Amino acid sequence: MSLVVQKYGGSSVADAESIKQVAQRIVATRRAGHEVVVVVSAMGDTTDELIELAEKVAPLPPGRELDMLLTAGERISMALVAMAIANLGHEARSFTGSQAGVITDSAHGRARIIDVTPGRIRGALDAGAIAIVAGFQGVSQSTKDITTLGRGGSDTTAVALAAALGAQVCEIYTDVDGVFTADPRIVPTARRIPRISYEEMLEMAASGAKVLHLRCVEYARRYGMPIHVRSSFSQAEGTWVTENQPGTTETEGGQDMEQAIISGVAHDRSEAKVTVVGVPDKVGEAARIFTAVSGAEINIDMIVQNVSAAATGRTDISFTLPKSDGQAALKALERIQPEVGFESLRYDDRIGKVSLVGAGMRSNPGVSAKFFAALADAGVNIEMISTSEIRISVVVDQDDVDTAVASVHRAFELDDPDGAAVVYAGTGR
Ligand code: ADP
Ligand code: ASP
Ligand code: MG
Repeated sequence: MSLVVQKYGGSSVADAESIKQVAQRIVATRRAGHEVVVVVSAMGDTTDELIELAEKVAPLPPGRELDMLLTAGERISMALVAMAIANLGHEARSFTGSQAGVITDSAHGRARIIDVTPGRIRGALDAGAIAIVAGFQGVSQSTKDITTLGRGGSDTTAVALAAALGAQVCEIYTDVDGVFTADPRIVPTARRIPRISYEEMLEMAASGAKVLHLRCVEYARRYGMPIHVRSSFSQAEGTWVTENQPGTTETEGGQDMEQAIISGVAHDRSEAKVTVVGVPDKVGEAARIFTAVSGAEINIDMIVQNVSAAATGRTDISFTLPKSDGQAALKALERIQPEVGFESLRYDDRIGKVSLVGAGMRSNPGVSAKFFAALADAGVNIEMISTSEIRISVVVDQDDVDTAVASVHRAFELDDPDGAAVVYAGTGR
């Protein structure tokens, strides 16, 4: 009997009706002869609503208590899904992340999984039951407190359990028919990608394509766990995320074709930009600035340093970071202002990042020229640029993101002429 892990996102379990639909699909998988472990997210926008509620009570809620609150969202859906399955005549047992053996470090709000000991899940399966696990949560090895894995983290719970239980596949059910060449909410003519490598999916996820949590893709790659992204609202074939077969991608018909140069266009509105204005052009200043920021446990993304103005001997350094870390970064920098002697700080959270991803960039010159020409034709001004081997990203004004994504998508001929990508549910929050 093979074991399948299925994860259902918030929009797939948003109300009683969808929970009953999901239960049908789970039971059908069980009846087809598989052992089934299900990971669920909180219903609809519950997590966002709980965060808003917490912030009404306290503007900066303590991390431990916020995690305790947020994990309640997934507990609600796990119990309801188990009940709906029981109603169809199958035994289902629900488990919190801690009961399922998801052991993490103690970083509240962005805990990392350090071990998975799914003894109770194995026991439930051996007893013939379907196991339902609350996503996005674990328990800290050192403090024994309840932790969360960061927004979108249920995907990571699913892959971690799949790896620990030796599952054949990890299926991620969401509100679109798979991974597309751009977010179907912005580009309705986006194409479904039948198969994508871990490497390209990692870059897409890191660039904001939130259809898969970044750490889930990292985890899957490390353990060689195939991910199958599908819609819980259709029977469409979806997207396989697997190891790359060199030089080829498999088409739906099963034949190989030449690797597409470009996988897709991703965007991210979750970042802000900090500019440190008038930094003295001396050895060690950048080190001092970024030591202060990393000391506040903040991950930064893009960095740009301008050439210093000859007249003043000073330069500006800009970097991007998650909006949620903006205030902490400004505080950390203000503290070192007397020592570094920069002039002032500027903060802009009305930005967006647009990225073009594709493994074929390595061997195809001219990709960046075409990318920048597409942005210029669309009248989009570029504020920052960064690249990796298989990605080009720019920071633009928040209001230009949709236009930029659509025009780059068109320029690289990614549009599906008769495509109308379906978004089945969800608010896109
Ligand atoms: P879930 O609640 O199921 O985890 P998410 O909202 O986290 O769902 O992820 C699914 C959403 O990801 C889609 O509704 C879509 O708007 C967005 N998305 C962004 N980029 C892409 C992409 N390249 N392909 C598919 N979906 C994408
Ligand atoms: N409910 C959590 C969130 O909204 C985790 C998840 O859905 O993956 O971020
Ligand atoms: Mg998600």
